[in-house]
Amino acid sequence: MDSRLPKPSREKLEAWFRYYNDLNFGEFYIDRRTMGKRSVKPPAIGAQIAEPAISLTARAAATASRIGVLPASALPVIQESSLFEAIDRRVEGDTLELIRENLGECTRCRLHKQRNKIVFGVGNPRAELVFVGEGPGHDEDIQGLPFVGRAGKLLTQMIEAMGLTRDDVYICNVVKCRPPENRKPEDDEVATCSPYLYRQLDVIAPKAIVCLGGVAAQTLLKTKDPISRFRGNWYDFRNTKLLATYHPAYLLRNPAAKSEVWKDLQKVMAHLGLKSKKTSR
Ligand code: URA
Repeated sequence: MDSRLPKPSREKLEAWFRYYNDLNFGEFYIDRRTMGKRSVKPPAIGAQIAEPAISLTARAAATASRIGVLPASALPVIQESSLFEAIDRRVEGDTLELIRENLGECTRCRLHKQRNKIVFGVGNPRAELVFVGEGPGHDEDIQGLPFVGRAGKLLTQMIEAMGLTRDDVYICNVVKCRPPENRKPEDDEVATCSPYLYRQLDVIAPKAIVCLGGVAAQTLLKTKDPISRFRGNWYDFRNTKLLATYHPAYLLRNPAAKSEVWKDLQKVMAHLGLKSKKTSR
């Protein structure tokens, strides 16, 4: 990649190349030329890179069934990379205990001011399946445990419908402190807290990650796309299959969406080789 390109353009081009490479397009420019088609000139240095006519997400969705799993790079890469500064490599010898210790009585972002308890995560440290939510609510903040309120009870039912218990899986959130009035966590709060989530996922090394709602999925896939764009598709997250589905709190408000979520969970079950007694909800 030409290092004289401005950083945003370079990053965007790199994302495109990664995307085409992941789809086995090979040498993109050379193939086009040898096919006798109009040669594609590399963009002028410093030129704005135009958006493709169809968004990468739409193309990715179209090819989902063909390639089985989508690269996270198929989603538009957000430019404000500093907002989603994630750890680029695994921490050698990391453990959940060490991560919790490093977190300490965290005051790294403003969420600590009103929190009661840090909600680190709970469940099987060797779980094959990890659920990632957005952030603790009122009940979680009191108890220091994730998903123990109304939405949590629904999540427990979903887990049991999969033929599992809460002890079989691991449950955590993007931010470990309750956002006031249950508002969405701000980008800088997510950026501060998400490296701990990355470390948790690296240590547990599950077979599948289920993101509950847009915030979790957007954080791990580094996109700002709405969840409706990628819900129910498999993506790659550091060599682990990741699927986003609706948040249980959304299901409490929109029970009709439960059938969509059940379809998503059945995909997860198939991947994990699980059979449930239920066939529909
Ligand atoms: N909603 C979340 O996203 N996480 C929780 O722990 C509880 C509710």
